[in-house]
Amino acid sequence: MTRLLRLRKYTLSPAALDGSLPQVHRAHCTTCGTTGRDAADSDAATTWPHEHVRDRPAHLEYTEDITRPYQLIPGQWR
Ligand SMILES: [Zn+2]
Repeated sequence: MTRLLRLRKYTLSPAALDGSLPQVHRAHCTTCGTTGRDAADSDAATTWPHEHVRDRPAHLEYTEDITRPYQLIPGQWR
C-alpha cells in the first residue's frame, strides 16, 4: 500500500474574518476567584473591580483575562 502525504504551511493569525469569535476581556478577582462581565476592551473590563470591592474591601488584587481568537490561514502546498 502506498500513501501520498502532502504538507501544507499554515500561518497563525488573530481572527478577523466575519463570523469570527470576538476578543473578550474580563477582570478576575484573585482573592475569591469571581470574574466580571465579558467586555469588548480593557477599559470596560476594568470597571468591574471598582464595583466588586465596594462590598469586599479586602479584595484588592485582580488580573485581566483576555480570550483572543486565532485562525490558521492555509498557505502553499509543499
Ligand atoms: Zn473578590
